[in-house]
Amino acid sequence: MSKTFLVYKIIEIMEKSTEYTKFLSSHVSIMTTLLLLALVFLLFMFSKLRRSLLRTLFKILRKISVGFTLKRHSRKLSPASECRLAMVKRKTLVLDMDDTLIKAIVKKSLEADIERNIPFDYRFTLFDNYYTIFVYKRPHLDYFLDTVSQWYNVMVYTTATKFYADPILDFLDNGRGILKKRMYRHNCRFISKVRIKPLSLAFTDLSSVVLVDNSIMECTYNKGNAIKIPNYVIGSLIDNNLLTLLPFLDCLRFVDDVRSILKASNYVQKLPKMSLLVN
Ligand SMILES: [Mg+2]
Repeated sequence: MSKTFLVYKIIEIMEKSTEYTKFLSSHVSIMTTLLLLALVFLLFMFSKLRRSLLRTLFKILRKISVGFTLKRHSRKLSPASECRLAMVKRKTLVLDMDDTLIKAIVKKSLEADIERNIPFDYRFTLFDNYYTIFVYKRPHLDYFLDTVSQWYNVMVYTTATKFYADPILDFLDNGRGILKKRMYRHNCRFISKVRIKPLSLAFTDLSSVVLVDNSIMECTYNKGNAIKIPNYVIGSLIDNNLLTLLPFLDCLRFVDDVRSILKASNYVQKLPKMSLLVN
């Protein structure tokens, strides 16, 4: 076999393979387009499939968001800090529920199929299935509860009724025993058409009580003890309010009287993502 013949054969094979590659790539692009069109058609025709896909996408995005923002607060205290902490009273952190820890959507059960595209974390029914409640946890809630429960005695004070709040709080607690202490609507006061939560009903010494709440109105009688947190908006992937609150709560547990800090109006400017209720 001569060298010229070999070269000719190699060139011929290369030309054929190039043609084959072109043929394949053009068909692959056609097949991809067809598959994409079929997927769009299926998503358009089948709303459940569409919702399922969007839910999966949302879950992935939320995991990425959490991964980017989560910071550990598990460092050990210095001996001096341990000593200081032993000198002050262990404080109580009172948490509001709706719009602070979670957002809930109430629907009549007949409409419950008209489910939102954003995945809910928990669903339950009330009044013999007449209402369906979809619960959406605020981002970083579990980490927040795990952390603050090491620093504070934690309790929930909500303007919601017991039969509505208990299933939600049981779900949030998830057997950890963090949210066992609870106060409900019947523990609130109704003044000027507003339900308020006077902490003095539950605590004689307000120097060691911190309330985190989204509503200024509900905290009217707790100025000096309250930290206002922005409302949770369902689907907000950039909601890091619970995380950004942690360093501040970490510091507060070392003071003699929390009101000495929370009443200081000049502190408001130092916390851009939240405002303190001040006198
Ligand atoms: Mg609230």
